[in-house]
Amino acid sequence: MTASNSLSAAQVSQVTDAVTAAFPSAIGTLGDLVRIPGIAWDAFDPENLERSAAKVAELLRETGVFDFIEIRKAPVAAEYGDKLGAPAVVARRAAKNGAPQILLYAHHDVQPPGDATIWKTPEFQPTIIDGRMYGRGAADDKAGIVAHLTAIETLKAVAGADFDLGITCFIEGEEEAGSPSFRNFLEANAEDLKSDVIIVADSGNFTTEIPGITTTLRGLVSQVIEVRTLDHAVHSGMFGGVVPDAMTAMIRLLASLHDARGNVAVAGLHSSKAAELPLTDAMMRADSGLLDGVQFIGEGSLTDRNWTKPAITVIGIDGQTVALSSNTMLPSVKAKISMRIAPGEQPERALQLLRDHLEANLPWGAKLDYHDVEKGKPYLVTDGGWAKPLLEEALGKAYGHESVDLGIGGSIPFIADLVELFPAAQILVTGVEDPDSRAHSPNESVHLGGLKNAMVAEALLLLGSNSLKN
Ligand SMILES: [Zn+2]
Repeated sequence: MTASNSLSAAQVSQVTDAVTAAFPSAIGTLGDLVRIPGIAWDAFDPENLERSAAKVAELLRETGVFDFIEIRKAPVAAEYGDKLGAPAVVARRAAKNGAPQILLYAHHDVQPPGDATIWKTPEFQPTIIDGRMYGRGAADDKAGIVAHLTAIETLKAVAGADFDLGITCFIEGEEEAGSPSFRNFLEANAEDLKSDVIIVADSGNFTTEIPGITTTLRGLVSQVIEVRTLDHAVHSGMFGGVVPDAMTAMIRLLASLHDARGNVAVAGLHSSKAAELPLTDAMMRADSGLLDGVQFIGEGSLTDRNWTKPAITVIGIDGQTVALSSNTMLPSVKAKISMRIAPGEQPERALQLLRDHLEANLPWGAKLDYHDVEKGKPYLVTDGGWAKPLLEEALGKAYGHESVDLGIGGSIPFIADLVELFPAAQILVTGVEDPDSRAHSPNESVHLGGLKNAMVAEALLLLGSNSLKN
């Protein structure tokens, strides 16, 4: 497959006009989706997920471009029990005449609404105020579904209904619940999902004016450790000053995980450079709620520290509550260490380096045991494909501003499954969210101008891909 000619000015204006014409109805469709409260958590009515899957299937059917559109389910992974996952919608139109196959991913389930008293508009009632649509799922990720639909309609309008491009839509229904059946679903439907390019529309842009592609995600390694110093609890007056208690030994061990400046002190962990972006201390402070006078930790740019360097947090300690504490030396204490690993790192290697560090820094000959481990792979966009340069060009022309490479400090675990099952595919993470979208929080919203630009960009990507030949 060869790189495309640039998108012509005529193509850009045709696509922009088509999206502009379709936009009012696309916003209506987004509103219809927001009204269906499909939540894949056990406490919520699963019937709503059936309704939202049926609605998505109907919308895909209306495009008239697919060979088939089906609602399918797969069994959840063993650790989630013995049941079927939430309904996902799969639609496929096979590529013709050597054109590529593009998979468009989004999810139709949403987060629970959260505290109703904080919402300024009804949670599941689409409400437009000052150029933003408010409502649960308006951004995450129903805007992604509507962007896909509008891009497909626009390709049809500009290139004709008989276009060569292969398009697969995969709209899952349980992303906000951790995608428990995702892996099994991919395996069972691999033939229908197989594609040259996978567009995951579930992330965001740097601002409403500056588009971005999410090119890195950190991975995760967590390890529960136990430190033991005594074979039973003893009186702190009788033995204090001579024998060590497990809590103090644990605190010294945990304190060794960072240096005095707050850099991760585990030797040998991978790190790299993120793009230089105008992310300011003030933005970071405001977004995190950092208290006045509390300093940032670590060295390097904010984007490096947040996206492409490791981070370590102690997320739990089992010792004794203050209310129940007596003058007793604790014989053993457990803690859970959560480590974010940089793009390019291997979870197994990072875990070994963490353990090496713990063993080297264990004070006073204390005993160290390892318990539960969780591992999630980081993601780093693969270079060399044609899709990223084409998407960059499409974003630049749609927004009138060059696209930037973004990272996410956390992970999107299902991306690792996509990489593993479809190693030959070029995977690109895009989105319609902006810093004010408040996905997962009350008052979630999508910026309509940004959404329209995202639709233009995606339609340009499809149009540019349509003219590629093997
Ligand atoms: Zn999402």
